[in-house]
Formats: sequence, C-alpha cells, structure tokens
Amino acid sequence: MVFTSSDCALGGGVSAPQQPHANAKQTDDAAPDAPRRSLNQIAASVAGAASPASAEAELHSPRWGKDNAGAKLLAAQYTPEKRRFEIISVTTCASLTAINLLCIAFNFSSANAIGVIVSIVLGIFTADFLSGLAHWAADTWGSVELPIVGKAFIRPFREHHIDPTAITRHDVIETNGDNCFVTIPFHIYIALSFWTVSDMAGAGRAAYFANCYLFAMSIFVTLTNQIHKWSHTYKPPGWVQLLQDMHIILPRKHHRIHHVSPHDTYYCITTGWLNYPLEMIDFWVRLEKALCAVTGVPPREDDLKWAKM
Ligand SMILES: [Zn+2]
Ligand SMILES: [Zn+2]
Repeated sequence: MVFTSSDCALGGGVSAPQQPHANAKQTDDAAPDAPRRSLNQIAASVAGAASPASAEAELHSPRWGKDNAGAKLLAAQYTPEKRRFEIISVTTCASLTAINLLCIAFNFSSANAIGVIVSIVLGIFTADFLSGLAHWAADTWGSVELPIVGKAFIRPFREHHIDPTAITRHDVIETNGDNCFVTIPFHIYIALSFWTVSDMAGAGRAAYFANCYLFAMSIFVTLTNQIHKWSHTYKPPGWVQLLQDMHIILPRKHHRIHHVSPHDTYYCITTGWLNYPLEMIDFWVRLEKALCAVTGVPPREDDLKWAKM
C-alpha cells in the first residue's frame, strides 16, 4: 500500500500547489492523494529545470519566489535578536573549530591514518543523515507556530519551499548561524576530550578516532546550509561546481528532486549520499506511517498552509 497524507484522518483534502519547476502533469502526480512517483519519474521531471528561464520564472512567479505573500511574511520574521544569536553562534563555532583542528593536527600519527579516514567518512555519512532527519522533521510535523523553535528554526524551511532562491540572497551569517549553533556542544566535547585524554596517538587513540568522527560530522553539519545554498546558486564558484559534479557535496540537479511538490523525498542536503538508499527502503514513508499511526496527525499540514498563501 502507498502512504499518503490522506491515510491519516486529518488533512486529507489539502492539495499542494504546483512548484515552479514542475509542469502540469507533475501537479497531478504531486497531489497528496496521488501515488508516489518512482525516482525515475521524479528525476525526469526535473532534469530540464536548471536553466536561467526556470530560475527567472521561479524568482518572479507570484505564487512562488520573493513576491509570494507567504514568503514576504516569513522573511519579515527574521528579527534583529535572531541576527545577534547567529553572529554569536558563528563566532563561537569558528573559534572552537580552529582550536579543535589544531588539536587534531597536533595529535595526528601516520600509524593511525586508516582509522582517521574511516572516522572522517563515517562522520560525513552521519552529517548527511542528520541533515535529512532534521529537514524531514521540519517539513513534516514542524510548525512556524511552535514556541521558540517555530520562528527561529522552522520558518527558514517554510520560506525555502515557497521561495527556493531566498537562500541565495542570505549572507554568510544568516546562511550558517543555525547550523553553527547546533555543532557548538560537539566542539566543546571534542576540546574537553583533547584536554583530558593523554597519548592520543597511542593508548588514547580510540578517543582520537572518536574526535575525528565528531569533528568531521560537526564540520559537515556546520556547512550543510552553505552547501544547500550552493545547490540553488545559478553560477557557484568553479571549485564548488567541481565538488558538486564529483558528488562530494550536494549536486544541483540531485537536490531539485526534493523541490518537486509535495517535497516528500531526498531530504538529505549535505552530500546527498544517503538519499537514494533511504528512498530505496522507503525510510521516510515508513517513519511517517509510524508517526501518523501514533499521533493521528498527517504530515505537512503547516507546509501546505504556507504554500497556499
Ligand atoms: Zn524541504
Ligand atoms: Zn533546497
């Protein structure tokens, strides 16, 4: 059986409007009551979207883009207090990152190189999964009306679906502030570990590998929104395009699969490495089914509400 929002008692009649990338057929395909499309169908529908014409249409469409009523309302909720919070987060995270990088370099031993590489790769995979989990949670059951986290953390996700290019107009502070805040506790833990554990190149190498894992995870979590921003940037720097083409970071066309309404797949936005395997096992659908069965509340009610403004 295919899972849709109508499987829950509430909200089954809400329909998602067409996204700027999608054609008329995709609107029918994308409605919440329609069967989920195959990956090939989704990929085919977005393959031609990365053009200046579509980007222009996206920017000036009255139903999407910066002139959309909901997008304007959401953008206006970016407050000076939030801005100050982001500046402190970016400054603190950058300082701790520099300290921990020096500690990792100082304690490196070539005898531990393989363990370091494995730890770093696992850390990047973890960051990609966490990006998908946080994104999925915000898109499905998150709400802008939630106290504290609603306007601070859920609002950017809502703005992004109805104005996907808004992120490209955000500066480095607004783009990276939230993610920097999230990784500060991990950086503090790593710094304390280097402070308290001795002989990290020898007897304490397990702690060193753990620190490499957490450091790589923290770096990629920190960079997730910057990487996401580049995936929406029409002409990113050449070295960024190279990393995208090599699929070391989230490629542009790969991420566009998520931007077809109702935004129910390809949530991972760091490297995107886990999107295909998670789709193959219906991971997000199964998770939504389980939560829907427990709570009785269908996913994406808040997201669809903003999309209809
Ligand atoms: Zn999304
Ligand atoms: Zn996006």
